[in-house]
Amino acid sequence: MEKLTSPKVIEGILNKYDLHFNKRYGQNFLIDENIVRKIVEAGNVHKSDTVLEVGPGIGTMTQVLAEAAGKVYSVEIDKKLIPVLAETLEDYDNVEIVQGDILKTDIPGLLQTNLQENPLKIVANLPYYVTTPIIMGFLESDLPIEQMTFMIQKEVGERLCAEPGTKAYGSLTIAARFYAETEISFYVPAAVFMPRPKVDSIVVTLKKRPEPVIQVSDKKLFFQIVKASFLNRRKTLINGLQMNTDYPKERLLDALEKCGIAPGVRGETLTGEDFARLANTLTVE
Ligand code: SAM
Repeated sequence: MEKLTSPKVIEGILNKYDLHFNKRYGQNFLIDENIVRKIVEAGNVHKSDTVLEVGPGIGTMTQVLAEAAGKVYSVEIDKKLIPVLAETLEDYDNVEIVQGDILKTDIPGLLQTNLQENPLKIVANLPYYVTTPIIMGFLESDLPIEQMTFMIQKEVGERLCAEPGTKAYGSLTIAARFYAETEISFYVPAAVFMPRPKVDSIVVTLKKRPEPVIQVSDKKLFFQIVKASFLNRRKTLINGLQMNTDYPKERLLDALEKCGIAPGVRGETLTGEDFARLANTLTVE
């Protein structure tokens, strides 16, 4: 079979199955074989691994994943792509395609015995309209995920991997770091997709932590404090906390003082550990 990264082949498939790129599903297919291989390499996929892919499209990266992994499960929302995938993946006996929305899929049920026996890795060129819910869903899940490698919109990737004090740093950065070690693997230009998206892309790697490095006594309160501190980025920390939580000013000032955090700083200068100390102090008071 000819290469699925060839725009001519993609057009041929669309014609044959009477398909169109579905914008609603964020369908931008990879047309650069080198990038496909680089993503799978960044995914650190081995024959002993089970891989979960989100959105196989016409199966371009699925083929490369199937060559590298022991078993590949791939969840595709678009019913019309299922017959295409049956054709493009017919030579691979270690791939299981599931039609459905990844946000509603029973993943433990799908992976079953593979879940205990093999390391689980997630590799995906994500649909950009649902990037954050998909990534947060995996981070918050109890799935024994070793590593996740995602191609996503550049700005979102930079937020996931940002350093304190930078523009990109925010509640998403802290949430990601709470659950995982995050790293930018490489940048990807819009030209490697068909159709070409309006934004540039990035490949990021998230290694899930077996134990959280940030110790919080009340996870919900911790994330509430983090969100409150970033909602009004131009305001000082104390103003943000006052505006977006129910705590009285005196109590907030007292907690900040106990933690050695100046109330006049901006939220973006605080690390996840700082927010944890603050949330923990507010919990016990
Ligand atoms: N993996 C292919 C590639 O790299 O060429 C396609 C990637 S394309 C950016 C995203 C894919 O995710 C599309 O095939 C789209 O139909 C699928 N998709 C969109 N939303 C989804 C969802 N909620 N669950 C599963 N798949 C979804």
